[in-house]
Amino acid sequence: MFNDEQLERYSRQLMVNEVDLAGQEALSAARVLIVGCGGLANPAALYLAGAGIGQLVLADDDVVELSNLHRQVAFRGGQIQQPKAEALCDQLQQLNPDVDVRACVQRVDAAWLDQEVCDASVVLDCSDNFATRQAVNQACVRYGKPLVSGAAIRMDGQFAVFDLRQREAACYACVYGGGTDGDLACNQAGIVGPVVGVVGTLQALAAIQLLVGAVLPQRLQLFDGRTLEWRNMIMRQDPACPVCSGRANREEGA
Ligand SMILES: [Zn+2]
Repeated sequence: MFNDEQLERYSRQLMVNEVDLAGQEALSAARVLIVGCGGLANPAALYLAGAGIGQLVLADDDVVELSNLHRQVAFRGGQIQQPKAEALCDQLQQLNPDVDVRACVQRVDAAWLDQEVCDASVVLDCSDNFATRQAVNQACVRYGKPLVSGAAIRMDGQFAVFDLRQREAACYACVYGGGTDGDLACNQAGIVGPVVGVVGTLQALAAIQLLVGAVLPQRLQLFDGRTLEWRNMIMRQDPACPVCSGRANREEGA
């Protein structure tokens, strides 16, 4: 299935037992949806393109600005004012022409998510606002798709995998509630570049793991960039969750 050039390109990860040829085939057959093309998505998308994911779909309605470049490491100075989705798409295609990358320059809404999440193997939430996070989560619950969530602000990062293929998995709203208040964006609060890098890189690793068949722990992981320490919290399904409660019953009735 892979030609000689591809076998060489992926040789160092093919050596890893957890990937192997079967895992590489799973990666090349996969479609990963990345919502948001900022500081989390930049490293995540670079690693996923490098790893040979078959299809990447990138969505963002914003343009590259000078103040993004300290953390959005895929972008180059010459890309300022380009739409982020297109600028990231260009870099990924240069990195690995095997990967089919599609840039969607738009703010995601429920109808768009309905289509794209349905067709995705794994979804990465790299967005920067609660309304988008809730909409992405709702679509992932609806279609039973694994959601890899990341967030970062100042010196703090958050990371969680909601493997909604599993019936007992918690969803984003089980952990954070169903509200959309309390947005605090990087452009108001600030962010140290490597903190988003740490979280975005972990999002790529989790996506690869999920695609090669790993079962990941249901944990909310909090990173403190001051002490370089992680704290782990167990996530549980909320029986009163406004988004996913009754999911198991609905599946049984279906
Ligand atoms: Zn829930």
